[in-house]
Amino acid sequence: SSSHYDVIIIGAGAAGLMCAATAGYRGRKVLVVDHANKPGKKILMSGGGRCNFTNLNSTPANFLSDNPHYCISALKRYTPQDFLELVDRHGVEHEEKAPGQLFCKTSAKDILNVLLTECEWAGAEIRMATSITQVQASGAGYKLKTSSGALSCESLVIACGGLSIPTMGATGFGYELAKQFGLSVLPTRAGLVPFTLHPELKQQLAPLSGVSCPVEARCHNQYFKEPMLVTHRGLSGPSMLQVSSYWQPGDEVHINLLPAQKIQEDLFALRKSKPQSTIAQYLNQHLPKRFAQAFNELQGWSRPLQEYRNLELEQVADTLGNWSVKPAGTEGYRTAEVTLGGVDTRQLSSKTMAVLEQPNLYFIGEVVDVTGHLGGHNFQWAWASGVAAGNAA
Ligand code: FAD
Repeated sequence: SSSHYDVIIIGAGAAGLMCAATAGYRGRKVLVVDHANKPGKKILMSGGGRCNFTNLNSTPANFLSDNPHYCISALKRYTPQDFLELVDRHGVEHEEKAPGQLFCKTSAKDILNVLLTECEWAGAEIRMATSITQVQASGAGYKLKTSSGALSCESLVIACGGLSIPTMGATGFGYELAKQFGLSVLPTRAGLVPFTLHPELKQQLAPLSGVSCPVEARCHNQYFKEPMLVTHRGLSGPSMLQVSSYWQPGDEVHINLLPAQKIQEDLFALRKSKPQSTIAQYLNQHLPKRFAQAFNELQGWSRPLQEYRNLELEQVADTLGNWSVKPAGTEGYRTAEVTLGGVDTRQLSSKTMAVLEQPNLYFIGEVVDVTGHLGGHNFQWAWASGVAAGNAA
């Protein structure tokens, strides 16, 4: 009947659309259903509206997972170069903003259009504004009850994303469905998310709001040399977003404010050559002026260098090179770019993304416990896992 499909994909986001086109080109009759009014909303808002659609230097080391080997196979079989070729075939203009990070030159819309065009060419149907009220296994396939009627399929692909940005239509649907079929779901938490601060530090840093500086941040032995941005709510910017994915409540974040300097050597040399100079003057040379001034005031460093004893100078160097901040928390799913945790990949085939113990059921994209670093890795996982499932479903 017209309501029967070879493949139904729940979620018209990055992973779902990629999967739909791939399966469609194999001659499968494909339907994508999504409760939102428009497909690919997260693609449109990604990368500040320019979509950082892949990272040429992406390796499995750029992903967090409780089962770190799981993502390797799919990432190897569909590489950043493969996606770049697709984008180039559609004539999308792009640029490398930071090493390896590819963004659209014009708009993230270009990437969504690539996917929608591919779906059309592959004959995959997309049905928006459709909510799914029930999913049942039926023979070797599945029956779905939806707001636009009953549907059935042989293969069912879950691509409904994580919990971040609930206002964009994120739901826990994928996790609930996984549990319905007896799968374990690892605890979820917000990742790539700004830190909030305790009131005292927040007030002390208030004068720095809007200032960005290149730092090296560390949490649980993961180092990120990228800018940090002080906001009126706390600490943000790429380095803070990166370490947030490794951070647990109560942890300290360690920040090297002068990653390009040999701070202790510098200070000792300066004390010798210019004993009257101050730490503020040193900071002014290497940090944005507002940051240098406010940080210096925060630490109360006012004396000339000649008045600092060796141990004191070592402590100053340590504060600058290893500034330890204990965040109050994170801004949570409201502003997080990704959701950590999710469907435990130990129950899935790394070749096809299929559930090992439940025939013809697949999980792809962010709903599974594979989370990328900032910089285009999350979309690369969406593309690669979408293609893997699209070639099998
Ligand atoms: P999604 O793209 O989230 O798609 C899931 C789809 O499922 C949605 O259309 C949703 O409406 C639908 N859905 C959800 N629940 C249901 C339900 N119950 N019933 C029916 N449909 C449902 N990553 C990068 O690599 N580069 C970037 O530049 C980047 N920028 C980002 C910026 C922001 C602000 C955010 C929030 C994320 C960004 N990301 C970026 C992360 C990236 O967007 C995600 O990793 C990626 O979109 C995940 O793809 P997905 O297909 O798994 O899920």
